[in-house]
Amino acid sequence: MTYATPLRDIRFVLKNIAGMDEISHLPGYEHATSDVVEAVLEEAAKLSSEVWAPINRTGDRQMAKMIDGGVKTPEGFKEAYKKYAEGGWNALVCPAEFGGQNLPWALGVAVGEMWQSANLALSLCPLLSQAAIEAIEKHGTSEQKHTYLPKLISGEWAATMQLTEPQAGTDLAAIRTTATRNGDHYLIRGQKIFISYGDHDFTPNIIHLILARVDGLPSGNDGLGLFIMPKFLLNKDGSPGKRNDIKAVSLEHKLGIHASPTCVMMYGENGGAVAYLVGDTSEEGKGLRNMFTMMNNARIAVGVQGVGLSEVAYQHALDYAKARLQCSKLGDKSGKRVAIIEHPDVRRMLLTMKANTEAYYAGSMIDWMRRNPDPVQVQLAAARVDLLTPLVKAWSTDLAVETASTGLQVHGGMGFIEETGAAQYYRDSRITQIYEGTNGIQSNDLVFRKILRDNGAEAARFMKEMREFLVDLSQKPSDDLDVIQNGMVKAVAALEETTQWVLANAKSNTEALAASAVPYLRIFSTVAGGYMMTKMAYAAHRALFTADGHADYYNAKLITARFFTEALLPQIYGLMAPVMGGHTAVTQIANDQF
Ligand SMILES: Cc1cc2nc3c(=O)[nH]c(=O)nc-3n(C[C@H](O)[C@H](O)[C@H](O)COP(=O)(O)OP(=O)(O)OC[C@H]3O[C@@H](n4cnc5c(N)ncnc54)[C@H](O)[C@@H]3O)c2cc1C
Repeated sequence: MTYATPLRDIRFVLKNIAGMDEISHLPGYEHATSDVVEAVLEEAAKLSSEVWAPINRTGDRQMAKMIDGGVKTPEGFKEAYKKYAEGGWNALVCPAEFGGQNLPWALGVAVGEMWQSANLALSLCPLLSQAAIEAIEKHGTSEQKHTYLPKLISGEWAATMQLTEPQAGTDLAAIRTTATRNGDHYLIRGQKIFISYGDHDFTPNIIHLILARVDGLPSGNDGLGLFIMPKFLLNKDGSPGKRNDIKAVSLEHKLGIHASPTCVMMYGENGGAVAYLVGDTSEEGKGLRNMFTMMNNARIAVGVQGVGLSEVAYQHALDYAKARLQCSKLGDKSGKRVAIIEHPDVRRMLLTMKANTEAYYAGSMIDWMRRNPDPVQVQLAAARVDLLTPLVKAWSTDLAVETASTGLQVHGGMGFIEETGAAQYYRDSRITQIYEGTNGIQSNDLVFRKILRDNGAEAARFMKEMREFLVDLSQKPSDDLDVIQNGMVKAVAALEETTQWVLANAKSNTEALAASAVPYLRIFSTVAGGYMMTKMAYAAHRALFTADGHADYYNAKLITARFFTEALLPQIYGLMAPVMGGHTAVTQIANDQF
């Protein structure tokens, strides 16, 4: 199993989907020159493909283990993390004030894709640190920022996200772990489950961000606080000192990401784990809101996991399809066996695996949100990021599972045999649909918050942008672009019609809406994905005339976009009926009729 970083594709997407040239002109990003971007991409490509990817398979077999009360990660993982931290990779998009490099998010997405493709299980550790850094930066006190951010940003310490309990998964209002005020800190008592990298051997300290119920506050979400709970309490000089009252008691045995330790955690066996409220005392009941900063960051990042996994599963299947000889070409009676890539159905599968770029677009919107000097534009970009977050998380991860499954199918029986590695991508991909809020919950978020909150205004603005782009496209004479433009015009109209139904049924038919949320998200994301493919096709079309010697490459982009429009985009018409009419049975059937 190898991973070859698709640098050319990444450059193409960064330029044409993320708009990297424009982003690097935003105030504060002047240092993100094309030379710097190129150097970052090339160095990340080396580390991901030469250091992280080669241990992906062994990590799956060896798994993280609990030894002498602590977690030991598989061979090579600690060293690979060390190289990542020493290379400054954790600091890439972080604020310069605390030692970060302050580079654009769009570039962070590109580099993130590389870590995820190379080694999903390992990448989960820094992914969570990144999310914690944003939460502390946004909600922490000045002292907390100066104490924790430099070491988290450098990667010297890592962070975790601690929400889930046996009775509180999706329903965080049911959290029971308690936080009791004790002078300048709180004492945490209780248990969490499913905590990724709850313990490990990468760093000398782990900074847990934990959601707990504050004694004396009301029940439900308003009683939750977000706390910083270090594994080792800090000495006066900031170094790790006494062990806190926290223990990883066991590891889960799971379907995939075997190298990532998923821990059951206990706090308070000796009186309570010392923790500090993120922010000042006025933040006591705002823990869930503050944790959402961390979760939204992680949702985009998990979407990037989907992109990375799709890419590597595609590469792997493509290699196999070129090497595996089976049967003659359709219609050839000579008996000459050909590589399976010659068979139309295998070509269909391979083409289906190539359309996953929404996360890049979302990354660029985060940059516009952070750096645009015009406050109106900042608000618009923020609304777009909000709308896109559930799409990126759910669609990219749904596609990752489908792509990994298709990749396995391309291998035939060998795909089912562990030795080819296709099975690992399939197993690893599956968690991405579940954690950071299941994809069902992302769909609810899309419908009930992102669409209804502003009565469909941001969705309408997005569709208007698509329509305007498509008008521009019709000025360009080309068979492929014609097909793409016509297909997209129809698709945007279908999305509008379905969105109108969602808005019209919001109040009177809430149950129906909840039952239709998943196919609606799929329609929305597929049309948005079509928009990205159209942008790429247009860029490829223009590049064809630059005579830079890469006509084949640009042609392939046009063909892929055409395939998407003709073969994948029409799936939305089959989903409109379930959205607008498929809910009756779901809402009528009684529990005892199942
Ligand atoms: C490998 C792994 C790593 C993880 N890492 C972490 C971590 O680092 N930190 C952390 O805190 N958690 C972590 N989790 C937990 C993860 O985030 C949860 O498993 C996830 O949020 C779902 O919660 P649950 O498992 O309790 O499922 P449930 O909430 O019980 O959901 C079960 C099913 O019911 C559906 N459902 C529930 N409520 C609703 C509703 N209101 N409307 C519609 N459908 C609904 C869900 O979509 C799902 O299909 C991890 C889990 C795993 C397996």
